[in-house]
Amino acid sequence: MSANSEVILVARPVGAPKPSDFTSQEAAEPTMGAGEIEVKLLWLSVDPYMRGRMTDAKSYIAPFEPGEALEGGAVAEVTASDNPKFAVGDKVTGMLKWRATQTHSGEGLVKLDPALPNPSWALGVLGMPGMTAWAGLTLHGKPKESETIVVSAATGAVGSLVCQLAKAKGLRVVGVAGGAEKCAYAVEALGCDACVDHRDPELKKKLNEACPKGVDIYFENVGGVTLEAVLPLLNPFSRIPLCGRIAHYNDTELPEGPDKSGLLWRLMLVNRVTVRGFIVTDHWDKFPEFLAEVTPMLMSGQVKVKETVMEGLENAPEAFIKLLEGGNFGKMVVKVA
Ligand code: NDP
Repeated sequence: MSANSEVILVARPVGAPKPSDFTSQEAAEPTMGAGEIEVKLLWLSVDPYMRGRMTDAKSYIAPFEPGEALEGGAVAEVTASDNPKFAVGDKVTGMLKWRATQTHSGEGLVKLDPALPNPSWALGVLGMPGMTAWAGLTLHGKPKESETIVVSAATGAVGSLVCQLAKAKGLRVVGVAGGAEKCAYAVEALGCDACVDHRDPELKKKLNEACPKGVDIYFENVGGVTLEAVLPLLNPFSRIPLCGRIAHYNDTELPEGPDKSGLLWRLMLVNRVTVRGFIVTDHWDKFPEFLAEVTPMLMSGQVKVKETVMEGLENAPEAFIKLLEGGNFGKMVVKVA
């Protein structure tokens, strides 16, 4: 019997993913080929974009296939190596299968700096979500001191760094998050000037009060009622880095109700709004620039990090399901070993 294990996609979820869409099973022991490495998973990242990969809709990344192991951002330890770039004991990060032990060519894997206090940061603040926050804010938000930015999913992996970077650049920062505890954290720990609960029936009124000079940048992570509340507040020449739409990832059809596209486009026109959809990998060449700005802020304590940690590879599907429901506080990661 093999001691190895993996998590596979059983079926493409319809609507919100359910535990039965995934299963954990025994996997074959890996056999390392020439020039390859063998790695043991230490940490896995669960990320909202993975929901899109569970459908077969045309996208910027290939879909997961039912019956196959999932894959995602991970940190692993090299346990055997026939590749001169990697030694046994090295910690590496990159895209890996949701399989406890696996072989890899090494291509696309990056060695972690041994000085990094928490390897899981490579999956959050110093990894893909951190880079997303930095690129979306800097390259597409084009922030200027004393402007007002609204950040949705403000306490999450991406949003929490957007808030802190924007504050450091002298903006008025207004977060939108789910619940009183997350809103309090956004103000007290992340330095937001205000934070509004997106489930509050008075969201529109409260957001209006929190943005007395209107909104110059809306960092869009969610869509839904938050987007609707922000739109009337947009200032002339405002920018919307369109990063994500998590409120819609489980939609199976367009939301019911009157078509609001006429109103939406009118607002975009009269305010000369720039909406810029972006995918973090478009900007991967700027990763060193991002690290050079954010690493010192993190090490000095200026940037704060929160994680929700779930234990065990077999619990990765549950971590993913919780992430889509807002059951994470900060970056959601899975500790495998
Ligand atoms: P988060 O850590 O922010 O976790 C997701 C959060 O979304 C939840 O905690 C929840 O926060 C919020 N949420 C879930 N459902 C809803 C809803 N219906 N309405 C409002 N908020 C909701 O995830 P990430 O930081 O990893 O990702 C944030 C966004 O950025 C996602 O849309 C993701 O797809 C996008 N992204 C885009 C990338 C790109 O290249 N364009 C790269 C990486 C991420 P709360 O409890 O506060 O509601």
